Amino acid sequence: MKYKSIKFGVIGVGHLGQHHVKHFKNLQCAKLVGIFDTNKERAKEISKKYDIKSFDKINLLLDEIEAASIVTTTKHHGEIAKLCIKNKIHVFIEKPITATLKEADKILKMADENKIIIQVGHIERLNPALLALKPYVIEPKFIEVQRLAPYTSRGTDVPVVLDKMIHDIDIILSLVKSTIKSIQATGMSILTDSIDIAHARLRFNNGAVASIMSSRVAKNEVRKLKIFQKDFYSTIDLLLGMTEVYKLSKNDNITGKSNVQIPFDYKNKTNFIVYKKLKLIKNDPLKMELENFLESIQGLQTPIVTGKQGRDALDIAIEIQKMIIKDIH
Ligand code: NAD
Repeated sequence: MKYKSIKFGVIGVGHLGQHHVKHFKNLQCAKLVGIFDTNKERAKEISKKYDIKSFDKINLLLDEIEAASIVTTTKHHGEIAKLCIKNKIHVFIEKPITATLKEADKILKMADENKIIIQVGHIERLNPALLALKPYVIEPKFIEVQRLAPYTSRGTDVPVVLDKMIHDIDIILSLVKSTIKSIQATGMSILTDSIDIAHARLRFNNGAVASIMSSRVAKNEVRKLKIFQKDFYSTIDLLLGMTEVYKLSKNDNITGKSNVQIPFDYKNKTNFIVYKKLKLIKNDPLKMELENFLESIQGLQTPIVTGKQGRDALDIAIEIQKMIIKDIH
């Protein structure tokens, strides 16, 4: 990137925040000025590890930067984003954008008035397994997603819908070019006072349906997406990095080493189902989204996930959460 170095701060340097610090230390287009974390021990540890200044007060950091990553626990995203925007600081906010829709709307309005960029860290959009589908026209009729993870205390300040399911809501909204017609949802508290497992079914106005299962009570991690559309089926393993495509073809002269052809008999005609395991291009999704943010600040790009898209995913997540609460009481 050819442009000036943007003065940057990272607010919240826990599990994920430290990866933001690591990237900003190495990105030429950003000058990492410092970090702030309310956990002084953690701030000290990260400050020492990455040789970066830790500020005692957030305002002292904000006085010196032009842009910030907000990587605190979700319930603090809104208040910190407001403070940043008031100080004319562009914000990269980890997902979910905020814990409430009211806060999301407020910061979007403030950002608009102050000409500030908000980008949201829905990192799965840059998962190589999903990006591999780029050459295909994706018009899903049915999507099935499973996102399961063993319990950790991180993320439990919000229900599983806002912690895990929101990733898939965002992916689905990016794939289905339609608006939501109806939502059905159910879920349960298993280990915390909040909802730990959730299932939602989204119906879109163009007829597409998405079924999403999310859990933070699982032995092993699973992140799988299946897309069904006319004459096409794809399975995407977001965790293991594998994308497979099955496509109906009218002839058998399909070339390509990775193609496998399976005869498909229907109504006295034989066609072929062509199977292909797609080649994935390795990338570092966090680095890509942070570079995209810096380019967006300079007006060279638009954010991969805008504040509005983060807000729309949150809107649906909150609807699902409300439905679950209603369903179980
Ligand atoms: P974490 O608990 O490990 O870290 C959060 C840090 O924020 C802690 O160090 C805490 O002391 C600090 N903090 C809390 N309130 C603060 C405040 N008011 N000011 C400054 N610091 C504050 O959590 P984590 O796993 O790193 O998650 C952080 C955020 O990132 C969450 O919103 C989470 O949803 C999101 N996240 C996104 C992804 C992704 O895939 N995009 C993955 C993990 C987490």
